[in-house]
Amino acid sequence: MTVVSATCPRRDRSGEIVFTGVSEDGELRECPDCSSEVAVDPRCNEVLHVEEEP
Ligand SMILES: [Zn+2]
Repeated sequence: MTVVSATCPRRDRSGEIVFTGVSEDGELRECPDCSSEVAVDPRCNEVLHVEEEP
């Protein structure tokens, strides 16, 4: 099981958010902190917040 951890840059809150069971190719999840869509990439151990169109 792939686990990717990150911090949410959109909320002034400490602590990591952890995504478990991530597909090896990466997948879209919902950030538990800000409820935005995030692209989770286990290969880079990276979580990118998808920018929302205004
Ligand atoms: Zn977030």
